[in-house]
Amino acid sequence: MNDMPLDFGDPADLARLRGEFRAWLADHPLPERGAEEATPEFLHRWHKLLHSGGWVGLDVPAEYGGRGLTTLHQVAVSDELGACGAPGVPRIGYLAQALLSFGSEEQRRRLVPRMLAGDDVWCQGFSEPGAGSDLAGMTTFAERRDGHYVVRGQKLWTSYAQYSNLCLLLARTDRAGAPHKTISAFALPLDRPGVTVRPLRAANGDDEFCELFLDDVRIEDAERIGDEGIGWALAMTTVSYERNALDTGHISKYGLLVDRLRDAVRERGAALPDGLRSAVGRCVVDYEVLVAHTRRRIAERLGGGQAGFESSVDKLLMTRTEQRLYQTALDVFPETLHGDGEAEVFAEYLYSRAASVYGGTSQIQRNIIAKRILALPSGD
Ligand SMILES: Cc1cc2nc3c(=O)[nH]c(=O)nc-3n(C[C@H](O)[C@H](O)[C@H](O)COP(=O)(O)OP(=O)(O)OC[C@H]3O[C@@H](n4cnc5c(N)ncnc54)[C@H](O)[C@@H]3O)c2cc1C
Repeated sequence: MNDMPLDFGDPADLARLRGEFRAWLADHPLPERGAEEATPEFLHRWHKLLHSGGWVGLDVPAEYGGRGLTTLHQVAVSDELGACGAPGVPRIGYLAQALLSFGSEEQRRRLVPRMLAGDDVWCQGFSEPGAGSDLAGMTTFAERRDGHYVVRGQKLWTSYAQYSNLCLLLARTDRAGAPHKTISAFALPLDRPGVTVRPLRAANGDDEFCELFLDDVRIEDAERIGDEGIGWALAMTTVSYERNALDTGHISKYGLLVDRLRDAVRERGAALPDGLRSAVGRCVVDYEVLVAHTRRRIAERLGGGQAGFESSVDKLLMTRTEQRLYQTALDVFPETLHGDGEAEVFAEYLYSRAASVYGGTSQIQRNIIAKRILALPSGD
Protein backbone atom coordinates (compact mmCIF):
# COMPACT_ATOMS: atom_id res chain seq x y z
CA MET A 1 0.00 0.00 0.00
CA ASN A 2 1.26 3.48 -0.82
CA ASP A 3 1.46 6.21 1.82
CA MET A 4 -0.92 8.55 0.02
CA PRO A 5 -4.38 7.19 -0.79
CA LEU A 6 -4.34 8.27 -4.42
CA ASP A 7 -0.68 7.59 -5.15
CA PHE A 8 -0.74 5.15 -8.06
CA GLY A 9 2.88 4.12 -7.55
CA ASP A 10 3.45 7.39 -9.33
CA PRO A 11 5.56 7.55 -12.46
CA ALA A 12 8.66 9.73 -12.15
CA ASP A 13 7.09 13.00 -13.30
CA LEU A 14 4.25 12.69 -10.80
CA ALA A 15 6.54 11.78 -7.95
CA ARG A 16 8.63 14.84 -8.89
CA LEU A 17 5.51 17.04 -8.95
CA ARG A 18 4.52 15.84 -5.47
CA GLY A 19 8.07 16.61 -4.27
CA GLU A 20 8.02 20.10 -5.81
CA PHE A 21 4.64 20.80 -4.28
CA ARG A 22 5.75 19.66 -0.81
CA ALA A 23 8.78 21.95 -1.08
CA TRP A 24 6.56 24.84 -2.19
CA LEU A 25 4.19 24.20 0.73
CA ALA A 26 7.12 24.26 3.15
CA ASP A 27 8.18 27.66 1.76
CA HIS A 28 4.65 29.06 1.69
CA PRO A 29 2.91 28.61 5.01
CA LEU A 30 -0.81 29.23 5.03
CA PRO A 31 -1.75 32.92 4.96
CA GLU A 32 -2.61 34.24 8.38
CA ARG A 33 -6.08 33.09 9.36
CA GLY A 34 -8.68 35.53 10.63
CA ALA A 35 -10.65 35.11 13.82
CA GLU A 36 -12.66 32.42 12.06
CA GLU A 37 -10.93 29.67 10.16
CA ALA A 38 -11.63 29.10 6.49
CA THR A 39 -13.62 32.28 5.90
CA PRO A 40 -14.27 33.06 2.21
CA GLU A 41 -11.71 35.90 2.43
CA PHE A 42 -9.08 33.55 3.84
CA LEU A 43 -9.85 30.90 1.22
CA HIS A 44 -9.60 33.52 -1.52
CA ARG A 45 -6.11 34.56 -0.32
CA TRP A 46 -5.18 30.87 -0.24
CA HIS A 47 -6.55 30.38 -3.76
CA LYS A 48 -4.44 33.27 -5.09
CA LEU A 49 -1.33 32.02 -3.32
CA LEU A 50 -1.78 28.52 -4.76
CA HIS A 51 -2.34 29.97 -8.21
CA SER A 52 0.80 32.12 -7.95
CA GLY A 53 2.74 28.89 -7.46
CA GLY A 54 1.10 27.23 -10.48
CA TRP A 55 -0.97 24.80 -8.37
CA VAL A 56 -4.46 25.58 -9.69
CA GLY A 57 -5.88 24.14 -12.92
CA LEU A 58 -3.09 21.67 -13.57
CA ASP A 59 -5.32 19.66 -15.90
CA VAL A 60 -6.68 22.70 -17.76
CA PRO A 61 -5.11 23.29 -21.19
CA ALA A 62 -2.36 25.93 -21.17
CA GLU A 63 -4.20 28.19 -23.65
CA TYR A 64 -6.96 28.56 -21.04
CA GLY A 65 -4.64 29.42 -18.17
CA GLY A 66 -3.83 25.94 -16.84
CA ARG A 67 -0.73 23.78 -17.05
CA GLY A 68 -1.98 21.28 -19.64
CA LEU A 69 -1.20 18.27 -17.41
CA THR A 70 -3.51 15.36 -16.53
CA THR A 71 -6.25 14.75 -13.98
CA LEU A 72 -3.74 12.68 -12.07
CA HIS A 73 -1.46 15.71 -11.61
CA GLN A 74 -4.37 17.73 -10.23
CA VAL A 75 -5.37 14.83 -8.00
CA ALA A 76 -1.80 14.52 -6.66
CA VAL A 77 -1.80 18.20 -5.59
CA SER A 78 -5.22 17.88 -3.91
CA ASP A 79 -4.08 14.67 -2.23
CA GLU A 80 -1.03 16.44 -0.77
CA LEU A 81 -3.13 19.37 0.47
CA GLY A 82 -5.68 17.12 2.17
CA ALA A 83 -2.96 15.03 3.77
CA CYS A 84 -1.27 18.01 5.41
CA GLY A 85 -4.56 19.40 6.70
CA ALA A 86 -4.44 22.51 4.47
CA PRO A 87 -7.59 23.80 2.77
CA GLY A 88 -8.13 22.08 -0.56
CA VAL A 89 -7.72 23.55 -4.01
CA PRO A 90 -10.51 26.04 -4.71
CA ARG A 91 -13.69 24.20 -5.73
CA ILE A 92 -13.94 25.67 -9.20
CA GLY A 93 -13.06 22.65 -11.35
CA TYR A 94 -16.69 21.89 -12.19
CA LEU A 95 -17.47 25.50 -13.13
CA ALA A 96 -14.32 25.66 -15.28
CA GLN A 97 -15.46 22.43 -16.92
CA ALA A 98 -18.83 24.04 -17.79
CA LEU A 99 -17.08 26.97 -19.50
CA LEU A 100 -14.56 24.72 -21.25
CA SER A 101 -17.33 22.43 -22.55
CA PHE A 102 -19.91 25.02 -23.58
CA GLY A 103 -18.27 28.47 -23.82
CA SER A 104 -17.14 29.98 -27.12
CA GLU A 105 -13.41 30.00 -27.81
CA GLU A 106 -13.36 33.72 -26.90
CA GLN A 107 -15.16 33.03 -23.59
CA ARG A 108 -12.84 30.13 -22.74
CA ARG A 109 -9.75 32.26 -23.32
CA ARG A 110 -11.10 35.25 -21.44
CA LEU A 111 -13.03 33.71 -18.55
CA VAL A 112 -11.23 30.50 -17.58
CA PRO A 113 -7.78 32.03 -16.84
CA ARG A 114 -9.41 34.68 -14.63
CA MET A 115 -11.43 32.01 -12.83
CA LEU A 116 -8.33 29.91 -12.21
CA ALA A 117 -6.40 32.95 -10.95
CA GLY A 118 -9.20 33.97 -8.57
CA ASP A 119 -9.46 37.32 -10.38
CA ASP A 120 -13.11 36.49 -10.97
CA VAL A 121 -15.04 34.70 -8.26
CA TRP A 122 -18.02 32.73 -9.57
CA CYS A 123 -21.15 31.41 -7.95
CA GLN A 124 -23.67 28.95 -9.33
CA GLY A 125 -27.21 30.24 -9.94
CA PHE A 126 -29.17 27.07 -10.72
CA SER A 127 -31.64 26.30 -7.87
CA GLU A 128 -34.82 28.27 -7.30
CA PRO A 129 -37.44 28.25 -4.53
CA GLY A 130 -39.60 25.81 -6.57
CA ALA A 131 -36.85 24.15 -8.59
CA GLY A 132 -34.12 22.23 -6.73
CA SER A 133 -34.37 18.52 -7.47
CA ASP A 134 -36.75 19.41 -10.27
CA LEU A 135 -34.32 21.84 -11.87
CA ALA A 136 -36.18 21.68 -15.19
CA GLY A 137 -39.08 23.42 -13.44
CA MET A 138 -37.19 26.71 -13.14
CA THR A 139 -39.18 29.84 -13.92
CA THR A 140 -36.50 32.56 -14.08
CA PHE A 141 -37.00 33.94 -17.57
CA ALA A 142 -34.61 35.73 -19.93
CA GLU A 143 -36.62 37.62 -22.50
CA ARG A 144 -34.95 38.32 -25.81
CA ARG A 145 -34.83 41.99 -26.83
CA ASP A 146 -32.67 43.69 -29.52
CA GLY A 147 -29.22 42.16 -29.03
CA HIS A 148 -29.74 41.53 -25.31
CA TYR A 149 -31.90 39.77 -22.73
CA VAL A 150 -33.97 41.07 -19.83
CA VAL A 151 -34.05 38.62 -16.92
CA ARG A 152 -36.64 38.31 -14.14
CA GLY A 153 -36.77 35.68 -11.43
CA GLN A 154 -35.25 34.41 -8.20
CA LYS A 155 -32.46 31.98 -7.35
CA LEU A 156 -31.96 30.31 -3.97
CA TRP A 157 -29.09 28.57 -2.09
CA THR A 158 -26.59 30.44 -4.28
CA SER A 159 -23.43 29.68 -2.30
CA TYR A 160 -21.16 32.64 -1.56
CA ALA A 161 -22.88 34.96 -4.06
CA GLN A 162 -22.05 37.89 -1.75
CA TYR A 163 -18.32 37.19 -2.27
CA SER A 164 -18.64 36.62 -6.03
CA ASN A 165 -18.55 38.98 -8.97
CA LEU A 166 -19.94 36.58 -11.60
CA CYS A 167 -22.77 34.08 -11.57
CA LEU A 168 -23.19 31.08 -13.86
CA LEU A 169 -26.90 31.68 -14.29
CA LEU A 170 -29.52 29.38 -15.78
CA ALA A 171 -32.72 30.90 -17.10
CA ARG A 172 -35.47 29.80 -19.44
CA THR A 173 -35.35 31.54 -22.84
CA ASP A 174 -38.50 30.01 -24.33
CA ARG A 175 -41.79 29.55 -22.48
CA ALA A 176 -43.24 27.10 -25.00
CA GLY A 177 -40.76 24.27 -25.67
CA ALA A 178 -39.77 21.27 -23.55
CA PRO A 179 -37.96 22.43 -20.39
CA HIS A 180 -34.79 20.52 -21.25
CA LYS A 181 -34.45 22.43 -24.53
CA THR A 182 -35.44 25.91 -23.37
CA ILE A 183 -32.93 26.70 -20.65
CA SER A 184 -29.91 28.85 -21.48
CA ALA A 185 -26.77 29.73 -19.51
CA PHE A 186 -25.25 33.16 -18.86
CA ALA A 187 -22.22 34.73 -17.21
CA LEU A 188 -23.99 37.40 -15.16
CA PRO A 189 -21.94 40.20 -13.53
CA LEU A 190 -23.43 40.55 -10.05
CA ASP A 191 -22.99 44.33 -9.97
CA ARG A 192 -25.57 44.75 -12.76
CA PRO A 193 -28.53 47.02 -11.95
CA GLY A 194 -31.52 44.93 -10.86
CA VAL A 195 -29.46 42.22 -9.09
CA THR A 196 -30.01 41.90 -5.32
CA VAL A 197 -27.98 39.40 -3.30
CA ARG A 198 -29.38 38.61 0.16
CA PRO A 199 -27.28 36.29 2.38
CA LEU A 200 -29.09 33.74 4.59
CA ARG A 201 -27.57 32.61 7.89
CA ALA A 202 -27.55 28.81 8.32
CA ALA A 203 -27.93 26.86 11.59
CA ASN A 204 -24.14 26.44 11.87
CA GLY A 205 -23.70 30.22 11.82
CA ASP A 206 -22.30 30.35 8.27
CA ASP A 207 -23.67 32.80 5.75
CA GLU A 208 -22.93 30.55 2.78
CA PHE A 209 -26.35 30.65 1.16
CA CYS A 210 -27.86 33.57 -0.66
CA GLU A 211 -31.07 34.51 -2.30
CA LEU A 212 -30.54 36.16 -5.65
CA PHE A 213 -33.27 38.46 -6.93
CA LEU A 214 -33.24 39.42 -10.60
CA ASP A 215 -35.50 42.36 -11.45
CA ASP A 216 -35.34 43.18 -15.15
CA VAL A 217 -31.60 42.62 -15.34
CA ARG A 218 -30.02 43.34 -18.71
CA ILE A 219 -27.70 40.60 -19.96
CA GLU A 220 -25.85 41.05 -23.23
CA ASP A 221 -25.95 38.46 -26.01
CA ALA A 222 -22.20 38.04 -25.68
CA GLU A 223 -22.71 37.02 -22.04
CA ARG A 224 -24.73 33.94 -23.02
CA ILE A 225 -22.61 30.79 -22.65
CA GLY A 226 -22.97 28.69 -25.79
CA ASP A 227 -26.14 28.57 -27.90
CA GLU A 228 -29.64 29.18 -26.62
CA GLY A 229 -31.12 26.00 -25.15
CA ILE A 230 -27.87 24.34 -24.02
CA GLY A 231 -28.51 25.19 -20.35
CA TRP A 232 -29.76 21.76 -19.37
CA ALA A 233 -26.78 19.97 -20.92
CA LEU A 234 -24.45 22.50 -19.26
CA ALA A 235 -26.16 21.94 -15.89
CA MET A 236 -25.80 18.15 -16.16
CA THR A 237 -22.10 18.46 -17.06
CA THR A 238 -21.50 20.91 -14.21
CA VAL A 239 -23.15 18.77 -11.53
CA SER A 240 -21.51 15.58 -12.79
CA TYR A 241 -18.11 17.19 -12.14
CA GLU A 242 -19.36 18.68 -8.87
CA ARG A 243 -20.35 15.22 -7.61
CA ASN A 244 -16.92 13.64 -7.44
CA ALA A 245 -14.28 13.08 -4.81
CA LEU A 246 -11.35 13.07 -7.22
CA ASP A 247 -9.84 16.49 -7.29
CA THR A 248 -10.93 17.94 -3.98
CA GLY A 249 -8.46 16.53 -1.48
CA HIS A 250 -11.38 15.03 0.43
CA ILE A 251 -10.01 11.50 0.28
CA SER A 252 -6.77 12.24 2.07
CA LYS A 253 -8.62 14.50 4.53
CA TYR A 254 -10.96 11.62 5.38
CA GLY A 255 -7.89 9.37 5.61
CA LEU A 256 -6.45 11.53 8.41
CA LEU A 257 -9.62 11.14 10.46
CA VAL A 258 -9.84 7.40 9.76
CA ASP A 259 -6.29 7.06 11.13
CA ARG A 260 -7.22 9.00 14.28
CA LEU A 261 -10.26 6.79 14.84
CA ARG A 262 -8.19 3.64 14.33
CA ASP A 263 -5.64 4.98 16.85
CA ALA A 264 -8.42 5.69 19.36
CA VAL A 265 -9.65 2.08 19.09
CA ARG A 266 -6.11 0.76 19.57
CA GLU A 267 -5.41 3.03 22.55
CA ARG A 268 -8.74 2.75 24.34
CA GLY A 269 -9.58 -0.83 23.33
CA ALA A 270 -12.33 -2.35 25.47
CA ALA A 271 -12.94 1.04 27.13
CA LEU A 272 -14.79 1.98 23.93
CA PRO A 273 -18.27 0.45 23.69
CA ASP A 274 -18.65 -2.37 21.13
CA GLY A 275 -21.06 -0.30 19.06
CA LEU A 276 -18.48 2.45 18.68
CA ARG A 277 -15.72 0.04 17.73
CA SER A 278 -17.89 -1.44 15.02
CA ALA A 279 -18.86 2.07 13.85
CA VAL A 280 -15.13 2.78 13.42
CA GLY A 281 -14.84 -0.52 11.51
CA ARG A 282 -17.64 0.59 9.17
CA CYS A 283 -15.87 3.92 8.63
CA VAL A 284 -12.69 2.09 7.62
CA VAL A 285 -14.63 -0.08 5.16
CA ASP A 286 -16.53 2.90 3.69
CA TYR A 287 -13.28 4.78 3.28
CA GLU A 288 -11.45 1.89 1.58
CA VAL A 289 -14.42 1.37 -0.78
CA LEU A 290 -14.37 5.07 -1.65
CA VAL A 291 -10.61 5.00 -2.29
CA ALA A 292 -10.89 1.92 -4.53
CA HIS A 293 -13.82 3.42 -6.42
CA THR A 294 -12.04 6.76 -6.85
CA ARG A 295 -8.93 5.06 -8.20
CA ARG A 296 -11.08 3.35 -10.83
CA ARG A 297 -12.72 6.66 -11.73
CA ILE A 298 -9.35 8.35 -12.10
CA ALA A 299 -8.21 5.55 -14.41
CA GLU A 300 -11.36 6.09 -16.51
CA ARG A 301 -10.72 9.84 -16.73
CA LEU A 302 -7.14 9.22 -17.78
CA GLY A 303 -8.54 7.00 -20.53
CA GLY A 304 -10.56 9.97 -21.81
CA GLY A 305 -13.81 9.25 -19.91
CA GLN A 306 -16.13 12.00 -18.69
CA ALA A 307 -17.64 12.28 -15.21
CA GLY A 308 -21.06 11.21 -16.59
CA PHE A 309 -23.95 9.58 -14.74
CA GLU A 310 -21.59 7.46 -12.67
CA SER A 311 -20.71 10.59 -10.73
CA SER A 312 -23.95 9.81 -8.84
CA VAL A 313 -22.19 6.72 -7.45
CA ASP A 314 -19.18 8.92 -6.54
CA LYS A 315 -21.49 11.32 -4.72
CA LEU A 316 -23.35 8.60 -2.76
CA LEU A 317 -20.12 6.91 -1.66
CA MET A 318 -18.57 10.23 -0.67
CA THR A 319 -21.67 11.27 1.26
CA ARG A 320 -21.88 7.93 3.10
CA THR A 321 -18.20 8.05 4.04
CA GLU A 322 -18.24 11.68 5.14
CA GLN A 323 -21.45 11.54 7.19
CA ARG A 324 -20.57 8.32 9.01
CA LEU A 325 -17.00 9.48 9.61
CA TYR A 326 -17.88 12.78 11.26
CA GLN A 327 -20.80 11.27 13.22
CA THR A 328 -18.44 8.58 14.54
CA ALA A 329 -15.74 11.16 15.29
CA LEU A 330 -18.20 13.08 17.46
CA ASP A 331 -19.12 9.87 19.32
CA VAL A 332 -15.49 8.82 19.84
CA PHE A 333 -14.30 12.33 20.71
CA PRO A 334 -17.39 13.79 22.48
CA GLU A 335 -15.27 16.59 23.96
CA THR A 336 -15.49 18.29 20.52
CA LEU A 337 -19.23 18.72 21.16
CA HIS A 338 -18.58 20.68 24.32
CA GLY A 339 -16.02 22.96 22.71
CA ASP A 340 -13.04 21.23 24.39
CA GLY A 341 -11.76 19.44 21.29
CA GLU A 342 -11.06 20.76 17.81
CA ALA A 343 -13.81 23.07 16.66
CA GLU A 344 -13.02 21.91 13.13
CA VAL A 345 -14.38 18.39 13.70
CA PHE A 346 -17.68 19.76 14.95
CA ALA A 347 -17.90 22.26 12.08
CA GLU A 348 -17.15 19.48 9.58
CA TYR A 349 -19.79 17.29 11.23
CA LEU A 350 -22.41 20.03 10.80
CA TYR A 351 -21.44 20.61 7.17
CA SER A 352 -21.40 16.87 6.43
CA ARG A 353 -25.18 16.83 6.99
CA ALA A 354 -25.52 18.97 3.83
CA ALA A 355 -23.62 16.46 1.70
CA SER A 356 -26.79 14.50 1.01
CA VAL A 357 -28.43 17.66 -0.36
CA TYR A 358 -25.97 19.87 -2.26
CA GLY A 359 -25.15 18.98 -5.84
CA GLY A 360 -28.42 16.97 -5.92
CA THR A 361 -29.90 14.97 -3.04
CA SER A 362 -29.09 11.32 -2.31
CA GLN A 363 -32.59 10.32 -3.44
CA ILE A 364 -31.99 12.02 -6.78
CA GLN A 365 -28.61 10.24 -7.15
CA ARG A 366 -30.39 6.91 -6.56
CA ASN A 367 -33.00 7.82 -9.18
CA ILE A 368 -30.21 8.60 -11.68
CA ILE A 369 -28.44 5.32 -10.93
CA ALA A 370 -31.69 3.37 -11.27
CA LYS A 371 -32.70 5.00 -14.55
CA ARG A 372 -29.46 5.85 -16.31
CA ILE A 373 -27.04 3.16 -15.15
CA LEU A 374 -29.21 0.17 -14.21
CA ALA A 375 -31.97 1.01 -16.76
CA LEU A 376 -34.66 -0.04 -14.27
CA PRO A 377 -38.25 0.65 -15.30
CA SER A 378 -39.36 4.03 -13.95
CA GLY A 379 -42.96 3.08 -13.25
CA ASP A 380 -44.36 6.26 -14.82
C1 LIG B 1 -24.63 23.39 1.23
C2 LIG B 1 -25.45 23.63 -0.01
C3 LIG B 1 -24.95 24.43 -1.01
C4 LIG B 1 -25.72 24.67 -2.16
N1 LIG B 1 -25.19 25.51 -3.11
C5 LIG B 1 -25.93 25.76 -4.22
C6 LIG B 1 -25.42 26.69 -5.21
O1 LIG B 1 -24.33 27.28 -5.04
N2 LIG B 1 -26.17 26.92 -6.30
C7 LIG B 1 -27.38 26.31 -6.52
O2 LIG B 1 -27.97 26.53 -7.56
N3 LIG B 1 -27.91 25.46 -5.58
C8 LIG B 1 -27.21 25.19 -4.44
N4 LIG B 1 -27.71 24.32 -3.48
C9 LIG B 1 -29.08 23.80 -3.66
C10 LIG B 1 -29.16 22.31 -3.93
O3 LIG B 1 -28.75 21.99 -5.24
C11 LIG B 1 -30.62 21.90 -3.65
O4 LIG B 1 -30.85 22.10 -2.27
C12 LIG B 1 -30.88 20.45 -4.01
O5 LIG B 1 -30.82 20.24 -5.38
C13 LIG B 1 -32.27 20.00 -3.50
O6 LIG B 1 -33.27 20.88 -3.91
P1 LIG B 1 -34.30 21.49 -2.85
O7 LIG B 1 -33.53 22.03 -1.69
O8 LIG B 1 -35.20 22.40 -3.58
O9 LIG B 1 -35.11 20.23 -2.28
P2 LIG B 1 -36.38 19.54 -2.97
O10 LIG B 1 -36.10 19.34 -4.41
O11 LIG B 1 -37.59 20.30 -2.59
O12 LIG B 1 -36.38 18.12 -2.26
C14 LIG B 1 -36.98 17.92 -0.97
C15 LIG B 1 -36.89 16.44 -0.65
O13 LIG B 1 -37.65 15.68 -1.60
C16 LIG B 1 -36.83 14.69 -2.22
N5 LIG B 1 -37.21 14.53 -3.63
C17 LIG B 1 -37.46 15.54 -4.51
N6 LIG B 1 -37.74 15.01 -5.72
C18 LIG B 1 -37.64 13.66 -5.62
C19 LIG B 1 -37.80 12.57 -6.53
N7 LIG B 1 -38.10 12.78 -7.82
N8 LIG B 1 -37.60 11.32 -6.07
C20 LIG B 1 -37.26 11.09 -4.76
N9 LIG B 1 -37.10 12.09 -3.84
C21 LIG B 1 -37.30 13.35 -4.27
C22 LIG B 1 -35.42 15.20 -2.10
O14 LIG B 1 -34.46 14.16 -2.15
C23 LIG B 1 -35.44 15.89 -0.74
O15 LIG B 1 -35.27 14.94 0.28
C24 LIG B 1 -27.00 24.07 -2.31
C25 LIG B 1 -27.50 23.26 -1.30
C26 LIG B 1 -26.76 23.05 -0.14
C27 LIG B 1 -27.33 22.18 0.95
